[in-house]
Amino acid sequence: MRGRIVITGLCLAAGVFGQDYDLVLKGGHVIDPKNQISAVRDVAIKDGKIAVVAERIDPAKGRQVVNVAGLYVTPGLVDIHVHVYAGTGERNSYAGDNSVYPDGFTFRSGVTTVVDAGCSGWRNFEDFKDRVIDRSKTRVLAMLNIVGAGMRGGRVEQNLDDMDGKATATMALKHKGVVVGIKGAHFAGPEWKPYQQAVLAGTIANIPVMIDYGANRPERPLYDLLTKVLRPGDIYTHMYSGLRGEQDPETLGPSKAMVEGRARGIIFDVGHGGGSFLWSVAVPLVKAGFIPDSISTDLHVGSMNSGMKDMLNVMDKMLALGMPLDSVILRSTWNPAKEVKQEELGNLSVGAPADVAVLRLIDGHFGFVDTRGGRLDGSQKLICELTLRDGKPAWDLNGITHVEWQKLEPARHGARPGR
Ligand SMILES: [Zn+2]
Repeated sequence: MRGRIVITGLCLAAGVFGQDYDLVLKGGHVIDPKNQISAVRDVAIKDGKIAVVAERIDPAKGRQVVNVAGLYVTPGLVDIHVHVYAGTGERNSYAGDNSVYPDGFTFRSGVTTVVDAGCSGWRNFEDFKDRVIDRSKTRVLAMLNIVGAGMRGGRVEQNLDDMDGKATATMALKHKGVVVGIKGAHFAGPEWKPYQQAVLAGTIANIPVMIDYGANRPERPLYDLLTKVLRPGDIYTHMYSGLRGEQDPETLGPSKAMVEGRARGIIFDVGHGGGSFLWSVAVPLVKAGFIPDSISTDLHVGSMNSGMKDMLNVMDKMLALGMPLDSVILRSTWNPAKEVKQEELGNLSVGAPADVAVLRLIDGHFGFVDTRGGRLDGSQKLICELTLRDGKPAWDLNGITHVEWQKLEPARHGARPGR
């Protein structure tokens, strides 16, 4: 509307003068775990940053005021395990057709930041950056695959000669702040080399390593990975897959490897994906108190069309397992931001980028499906009403930031009405 003020039932009053803020979200329940806020608060945004979070902000101070009473206002969700290196045309490859373009699948679920988990390696990261990272509205960060050629299936990912920790670290340091981790994945062999090289790269570049532990090999037991090879702060994803000894066969709770790994500071991430989330593992592990440090999707063309739908679906599953909403939000915002050392994200501190999700929690009868096709019924579900990226609406399900159509300026011939 080019600076014009329009007053509607949803956009409350705003005066022309003395407006300190671009946007005020009024009356929502703010959950900002970093700042230990879980209460009804107003949130004001200016120049794409969080300006104030307070019990009451004078609506006259906002150029636009949006009523979000009855909704939850959280930091934009941070999904640290996705696959978004789309567009190369390569078949059966995560550096190609298995990946999705992030903007099509993020904002509608409240996600404002994703971390691509190793689709590219040091040889093709800059192609990925040019094709996707630099063109996306979504904040896209990346973990480099320890395989130089990236996550391209078959023999490419098994090539020990293309696992060069130093070259990987050099590329990571060249793109500091965008490359936020190193990924080891899908390795089937008995060797430790992929993990040792990943840790070498992570140590040189001072960033965490995330491991998808590939084939379960007795030569490299999970216990040794989690208690000896990885460093505190490194991330074990697919924690509820049950594929590599995550679960104790007798108690059905977490294995000794998982318990000792956590005690040592290893981070545990969901990474639901198309084959890595079983109720038969998640139910007893959560019951035993072994909950995720971070909740993530492992989004790709396969997973998103099966049991895993999107970030909110994975969060709903955690609610269905009995985790409180505040804890689920913590593990979808501030924890993952910290894990990848991006502490300006995942929170609503004054001065932080105004990446915000406005969520509705609805009650009803819902079914949640794991990667074997088993269903667990639940009674709560999160819906994303509004997503802000740097203070601007990137998704608005019910038009709460828009005006009623009768109040739009008359359209000039051929002109497109817009905000
Ligand atoms: Zn993955």
